Amino acid sequence: LFIPITLVVYLTLYFARYLFSRKRSMYTEVKLALKMREFFLHYQPHVDASSGCVFGVEALVRWQHPSRGIVYPDVFIPLMEEYGLMDELTDYVLNAAYHDLAEKVFREGIHLGINVPPGYFSNPKNIRLLKLYKNKFDGIGISLGLEITERQFLDSVACESISRLRTFGIDILIDDFGTGQTSLSVLERTNIDYLKIDKCFVDSIGHQSVNAPVLNAIINLAKELNVGIIAEGVETDRQAQYLLTQGVTLHQGYLYAKPARIEKLFLSKSK
Ligand code: C2E
Ligand code: CA
Ligand code: CA
Ligand code: CA
Repeated sequence: LFIPITLVVYLTLYFARYLFSRKRSMYTEVKLALKMREFFLHYQPHVDASSGCVFGVEALVRWQHPSRGIVYPDVFIPLMEEYGLMDELTDYVLNAAYHDLAEKVFREGIHLGINVPPGYFSNPKNIRLLKLYKNKFDGIGISLGLEITERQFLDSVACESISRLRTFGIDILIDDFGTGQTSLSVLERTNIDYLKIDKCFVDSIGHQSVNAPVLNAIINLAKELNVGIIAEGVETDRQAQYLLTQGVTLHQGYLYAKPARIEKLFLSKSK
């Protein structure tokens, strides 16, 4: 009996040590990637489907991993959340977007959506930085919008900061609308500019899905509140047509363009 118990204890300790060192090495790896500037941005247009004009772009972060190729945010963002690195990533993305876009000339002006995690708004230093970027982007013809998910709870301090940023002229977008639990309470406490309808609702168009009636409810709610709507993940003509008949004109999705490096976007045609 003694031998199996020793073996179990030994294996448990060995496994725990393995997990711990693996976690620590991933932390070091992600930290180093920030330092080495291995993250870069893809941009995906928000198209006004009624006119065909580009209304704006969303910045989407990717990791150019030295051996694994391009790593997508669904892989590294949960890690960065766990390691408390989201503030650092958000600072990085703001800086990278500014550098990418400062080289372009936008005669008509363009909207830029940056994804900002709710926790970012709790630190006054970050609020000051956002105001600074708002002015910098204004200087290059870009109007800054913040896409905020409702995955995590927005506390009253965050709601307060968000309201102040909005009076400062920054657009506030609620991302993945309808998928979190706090949708309605957030709408009650903060004025916002746009709701982004999550792809799962757009997917329901033309299907007998439980999400189909929710899509119409969200559209009506937005109209009721006088808030803009952007539909995410539009992939088919049928979806686009349906959204247009419902009065939803701002679309984002593969039907129009996949996320790409700034040079690859038609935007680069501007001088
Ligand atoms: P999201 O904000 O909802 O972004 C939309 C996601 O849908 C993007 O995935 C985009 O590539 C994808 N997408 C757009 N159109 C279509 C379509 O027609 N079909 C399909 N199948 N997918 C489409 P991505 O780039 O992998 O980003 C995933 C999530 O990671 C984002 O969801 C966002 O929550 C987060 N994320 C991305 N970049 C950042 C960032 O810079 N900061 C933060 N905090 N989060 C980010
Ligand atoms: Ca987004
Ligand atoms: Ca506005
Ligand atoms: Ca989404």
